[in-house]
Amino acid sequence: MTETVTNWAGNITFAAKELHRPSSLDALRTLVARGARVRVLGSGHSFNRIAEPGPDGVLLSLAALPAEVDVDTAARTVRVGGGVRYAELARRVHAHGLALPNMASLPHISVAGSVATGTHGSGVGNGPLAAAVREVEIVTADGSTVAIGRGDTRFGGAVTSLGALGVVTALTLDLEPAYDVEQHVFTELPLADLDFEAVAGAAYSVSLFTDWRAPGFRQVWLKRRTDQPLSGFPWAAPAAEALHPVPGMPAVNCTEQFGVPGPWHERLPHFRAEFTPSSGNELQSEYLLGREHAVDILYAVDRIRDAVAGVLQTCEVRTVAADEQWLSPAHGRDSVAVHFTWIEDAAAVLPVVRELEAALEPFAPRPHWGKVFTTPPAALRARYPRVDDFRSLVRELDPAGTFTNAFVRDLLDG
Ligand SMILES: Cc1cc2nc3c(=O)[nH]c(=O)nc-3n(C[C@H](O)[C@H](O)[C@H](O)COP(=O)(O)OP(=O)(O)OC[C@H]3O[C@@H](n4cnc5c(N)ncnc54)[C@H](O)[C@@H]3O)c2cc1C
Repeated sequence: MTETVTNWAGNITFAAKELHRPSSLDALRTLVARGARVRVLGSGHSFNRIAEPGPDGVLLSLAALPAEVDVDTAARTVRVGGGVRYAELARRVHAHGLALPNMASLPHISVAGSVATGTHGSGVGNGPLAAAVREVEIVTADGSTVAIGRGDTRFGGAVTSLGALGVVTALTLDLEPAYDVEQHVFTELPLADLDFEAVAGAAYSVSLFTDWRAPGFRQVWLKRRTDQPLSGFPWAAPAAEALHPVPGMPAVNCTEQFGVPGPWHERLPHFRAEFTPSSGNELQSEYLLGREHAVDILYAVDRIRDAVAGVLQTCEVRTVAADEQWLSPAHGRDSVAVHFTWIEDAAAVLPVVRELEAALEPFAPRPHWGKVFTTPPAALRARYPRVDDFRSLVRELDPAGTFTNAFVRDLLDG
């Protein structure tokens, strides 16, 4: 490949023979049908080699395809192209007085790439972003399109698919009437006597942040829908100034705080679309575990807090409602999601990731597919009761293995 392509964080340089940016669906079909190994690169926000085709393969970017966003106001659905990012989708959906149920911490990520890895926001009643998907259109290895919707027995494997089934060229998502959200930030929530269920349920979407330099949480972010009741938050004090979740970073990059109501898509993400999200110089890991064990899980991290704090920028704790996608890290289990934004030094971070995975092991953690983890494939498979169904679906839709790569092979067969 003449061009060097890296992921957003810059910690991965993709091995590939060719990079293509088809500008039409026909061109994309022709490229795929040539028979070479293919992987799609979304917006490149994953921190591992999940998108890498390998040295003989083709890396396919959909960024040059027309950015289709077709809103059906009567049906309250939107059909969105395979390369479109949430920022663009949200802007166009909102213009029709409609909304998505939830968003991740940043709007910069592609919709297809996000739902492929089980990306999520927060909220005890909110499933991962894939929960809004009602149909997915996939160009398979012979260049033809298969549409798989809710009700199809294959749907459980079709959305959170790790890019292993084909090129997702469009997704249809459920919408709801637009709503406003207020964002309130509190500081210093103690770990001692934490009533996790009450805290996590105190608003539509709740995030706890800590640097693990001391027990407890430095910040709590509540995102309250203004069409839902206001509940008090007696456990911590309101912040005196606007805050960024990464200590020392400017709050101007963050969505508006202090309870100023605003449209859903300008409050649900932590980071504004027009600024760099998070810190930029970082690695990330995240684990989803049974929410009923949240307090024990937080104490398990607290016990190795010195090691964690040594390589950490910030840790975020969220909740994700159970969903039915076979490879969703929230599959069948209401989850607590414990996320770590590390420093960018992989050599220093990886031993801590291993120590963390050992500490969380009793709770059968499922790592975020787009982040850094070291869990062996056999252990991962044991945590996904429908992994055999996914393997069968891969065999059905991609019998020649056109869309597989080392990441997927290791997971399914390693
Ligand atoms: C700063 C930052 C903040 C983040 N915040 C969150 C968060 O709040 N919550 C969360 O859960 N995650 C979060 N993530 C992780 C991120 O959401 C995931 O890595 C997600 O996959 C990113 O989407 P992408 O388009 O960049 O995917 P990529 O990394 O480009 O691709 C991911 C996978 O999707 C496949 N893929 C992409 N597009 C297609 C397509 N059209 N057809 C077929 N396969 C496709 C790729 O082949 C690959 O396997 C964050 C990441 C960063 C960098």
